Amino acid sequence: MQEKYYCPECKEELNRVSGCGSVSYFCDNCKKLVSRKNMLSEDEMKKDEKKN
Ligand SMILES: [Zn+2]
Repeated sequence: MQEKYYCPECKEELNRVSGCGSVSYFCDNCKKLVSRKNMLSEDEMKKDEKKN
């Protein structure tokens, strides 16, 4: 199963955009690309939920 990633700013699910051998992640809500360094994995989202 494909992993899902989320925007660090709005917490929306990111769209996976692949092309030219590389994969990027785009937030439809913020209308911008999110780098791998900044995007949140499902695990990180769950940790965030527990904190709040
Ligand atoms: Zn966003």
